[in-house]
Amino acid sequence: MQEKLQCYMCDRIDNRGIVIYNQYVCRNCELQLIKINLDELKYEFFKRKLKKMWKYTLV
Ligand SMILES: [Zn+2]
Repeated sequence: MQEKLQCYMCDRIDNRGIVIYNQYVCRNCELQLIKINLDELKYEFFKRKLKKMWKYTLV
């Protein structure tokens, strides 16, 4: 028996996704989440590098 789950983000019903923070997220939204998180991580990394650069130029 396969359980059908409803996606927390897009309301699609399937059972191939994952559960994040007790919420079911379908495969499609999972991929989008990963992409968003990676972009944010990159942005955060870039921001920190820039901050460091500024520090060095100002001191
Ligand atoms: Zn979804």
